[in-house]
Amino acid sequence: MNPSTLKIINKSEKKSTNGTESSTMNNSPTRFDPEIAKWFNDYDCAVSLRFDDNHKTHVQFVIPLLNKYNFKATFMINPGRYYKKYKDFWESEMPKMGHRWGNHTWHHKGAQNLEEAEFEIGEVSKLIWKLYPLESKLNVFASGGGELWGGKRWHKTSPEFWDISKKFHLIDVYDGKHSSFELNSEIGQTEIENKINTAISEKKHLAFSFHKVGSKSLTDYLRKIVKNFNYTFSEHQFRKLIHYLNTKKNQIWIAPLVQIYKYEEEYKQAILTVLNKNEKRIVLKLKIGTDPKLHDQELTLILPYSKNRIPTRVLQNKKSLEVLKTKTGKFCSNINPVNSEIQIIYD
Ligand SMILES: [Zn+2]
Repeated sequence: MNPSTLKIINKSEKKSTNGTESSTMNNSPTRFDPEIAKWFNDYDCAVSLRFDDNHKTHVQFVIPLLNKYNFKATFMINPGRYYKKYKDFWESEMPKMGHRWGNHTWHHKGAQNLEEAEFEIGEVSKLIWKLYPLESKLNVFASGGGELWGGKRWHKTSPEFWDISKKFHLIDVYDGKHSSFELNSEIGQTEIENKINTAISEKKHLAFSFHKVGSKSLTDYLRKIVKNFNYTFSEHQFRKLIHYLNTKKNQIWIAPLVQIYKYEEEYKQAILTVLNKNEKRIVLKLKIGTDPKLHDQELTLILPYSKNRIPTRVLQNKKSLEVLKTKTGKFCSNINPVNSEIQIIYD
C-alpha cells in the first residue's frame, strides 16, 4: 500500500493544528493513542430490529427481505404458541441465516408460580443454547406484554421471578434500562428517518421492535378498537425502512440485540492502558470488567497511524490478529474482550 494515498480521517487528528502530520507520537501522545471504537467496526451507531411472537409474516416476508440486504435481526419466539407450522424453519433454517432467537417465554402466558416460571423461561433458554451451540449463553428476554407473573405484571412481580431470568443469563429488555421504539402503521417514514439520523449523530443504539408486518386483518382492526393497540406495520412501510437503512449502511451497525448489548457493556467496562510505546511498537494492557464466557463480542480497536507509520501487525496475548480497515479508512483490529496484553507493531 502506498502510504501517501492514505487519508487521515480521525477527527482528533484533523483538529490538530501544528501543521505537521508526520509529527511523531512521542510529541503528541493523546493524538496517537489507540482507542476502542464506540461501536463495532467504528460504525457511528447501532440499529437493532426485533420481531415478536414468531408471526408467520416474519417467515414469509421479513426474513427473505432482511436476507437480501444481509441485515441480521432478533426474533422473540414462543415455542409453545403459533409455532408448529414453521418449527423447522425457526429451529434449523433461521439460525443458519445468522438471525438470533430471543427468549420470549414458552407459551407467552406468564406464570402462576416460580415452578411454572422456571419452565416458561428456562426451557426456552435451553432450547436456544442447543440451537446456537457456538454462541455464549447470554441472551435477551422479553416477558410478554400484559402477562402476569405470580399475579403481577413482570416489572412489579417479586424478585424471585427476576432471579430466574438472571440465572439463565438473560438481559431483561423491560427492565427500564433498555428502551425500544415499537413500529406500527401510524408511524410515518419521516419520523423513522429522523430517529435513525439522531442515532447516527448521537452515536447511540436505536432499537426498533415489530409484531406483524403486513396488512391489517379484522382481528387487527378490533384489537386497535378494543385495546387501542396497533399491532401491524405494513409491508410497504417495512420495505421503505429497510431501503433507508441500506442507504446508511456505512454508518450503522445493524446487528442482533444481544450482540449490541454485549458490545455496549464490554465497551463500558474496558480500560486500555498504554504500557510502553516507541516508533516500532505500542504495548497496551486491556482490562475488562465483563465475564468473557458470556460477553464474547469482539471489540474494535482503532490503531494509531500516520502517513509514515502504518500498523502491520497486532498481537493479543501473543496471538496474531488481522489488521483491518474501517469503512472510513482507519486501521483497526477486532480484539477479544478478555484481560490481555496487546501489541501494535509498525514494521
Ligand atoms: Zn409477545
